[in-house]
Amino acid sequence: MVARRKPRASGQQTSLLDRLDREAEAFDSALTREYYLNRSGQKDDLKLEPIFHRHADLFSPETTEALRGGDPTDPRLPALREFVVFGCLENAARSLTEAISHRETTDATLWDGEQVPYRALSSLISNEADAGRRHQLDQLRAELTAGQNPLREERWDVLRATALTLGYGSYAEACDALGSLCLKDLRQQMETFLWDSESGYRSRLEAYLRGLAVDPGLAERSDLAYLFRSPQFDHFFSREQLIDCLLASLRELGIDAQRQNNVHLDTEPRPHKSPRAFCAPIRIPDEVMLVISPHGGQDDYRALFHEAGHAQHFAHTDRRLPYAQRGLGDNSVTEAYAFTLEHLVVNPVWLERRLGIADPSEYLKLTYFNRLYMLRRYAAKLLYELELHGGEDHRAKSKRYADLLTASLGARYSPADYLSDVDDGFYCARYLRAWMLEAQIRRYLVGEFGERWFENPKAGARLRKLWSWGQSHRADELARRLGYDGLDIGPLAEELQTTD
Ligand SMILES: [Zn+2]
Repeated sequence: MVARRKPRASGQQTSLLDRLDREAEAFDSALTREYYLNRSGQKDDLKLEPIFHRHADLFSPETTEALRGGDPTDPRLPALREFVVFGCLENAARSLTEAISHRETTDATLWDGEQVPYRALSSLISNEADAGRRHQLDQLRAELTAGQNPLREERWDVLRATALTLGYGSYAEACDALGSLCLKDLRQQMETFLWDSESGYRSRLEAYLRGLAVDPGLAERSDLAYLFRSPQFDHFFSREQLIDCLLASLRELGIDAQRQNNVHLDTEPRPHKSPRAFCAPIRIPDEVMLVISPHGGQDDYRALFHEAGHAQHFAHTDRRLPYAQRGLGDNSVTEAYAFTLEHLVVNPVWLERRLGIADPSEYLKLTYFNRLYMLRRYAAKLLYELELHGGEDHRAKSKRYADLLTASLGARYSPADYLSDVDDGFYCARYLRAWMLEAQIRRYLVGEFGERWFENPKAGARLRKLWSWGQSHRADELARRLGYDGLDIGPLAEELQTTD
């Protein structure tokens, strides 16, 4: 970091933080509303430019500079500083972000005599039963990705250079410092986890690959996408029961979702509506949209329960908190609450009671293997991203990406994905933290209310209490408030081992 300026008088800082808190809320609200209208199929275009323009001073280097001398005891400061710096970085790279998104929506490839859009390829790959055709399709996808990579490289050049101008030693350092992610500790926990779970993961992987008639020595990432798509379980999860199932589960926790006037369940069919459920917290807690196009299947159930977890968290957040603690802060927290509700869909008691599934063992085995895969994948992504963003030139990292992911996952990853498989701001770390916190929250609920906590309105009341804090506490602080020493992968690792 560059030398800090002298702290400003605290009165000035207070008014600066007051103003930024208000403006951040207005900006996020306008942006979320625009995304909601577009993705719910009510508006074809997505006009982000005017919103950025109206709030241009939020993301100016002057604002970042002014925040340097912020009062470290003000609880709003860390979240506002992170919001402003990331906005500043994204602002610098916005034309490249738009160019990449344009390529992703317009690129296409020829397959079976038809032009297939780039973004439709992953779904085609995960539904392709023939391994040879699957690998070919994935090769085409990787070629298109490679063609887009010069734009991604340029975008990372800009993000990295902007982080340096703002005084950080590297992009990784900026993310770590702003989000208090403790990436070094997280890396250590994840290296141990990768090591400890290696043999259990390999033996399950090989058994599953043999079941698909894929030679484990020749397996590719696309084979795993096909394995996890697993349409054989879709009949358990009917479209007709989906919404009733959610409403009944919330009712047991003491939440009458049909009378909640701040959560709007948008189930109306529209031609351009996103097929995947999503939550748009336009004003927290007063206007939270839960959007869904019910089509059934395990993915749809999991997506809806996940998004409902976000929606309930935001809808129960205390409105008296500043926006920095309602809408900003550590997203690992809202993700953990989303995973808490999503986890019901893999609870055997819940599955039997709500969906009448008497023997979910095969489904559960695969789901738990999928969780183990995801955890290992994100652990490997974290190790990779620390190298990618650690300082040196990212252009030299494509082989390293493929080597690390392939070695950790036992299936060939393509070097072409070395930038497209990376989210901004070390979001991989947020997910890892969220998975750990979710298992800890669940263990806490079981300890307080028993294995069937999700049928107990008192557990619902406890969750609402936690939700009311919004994102005032980081995931590690929240874990401490629940009686743990901090974020710990132990409960999750144990669970994944015992469900072998
Ligand atoms: Zn989420």
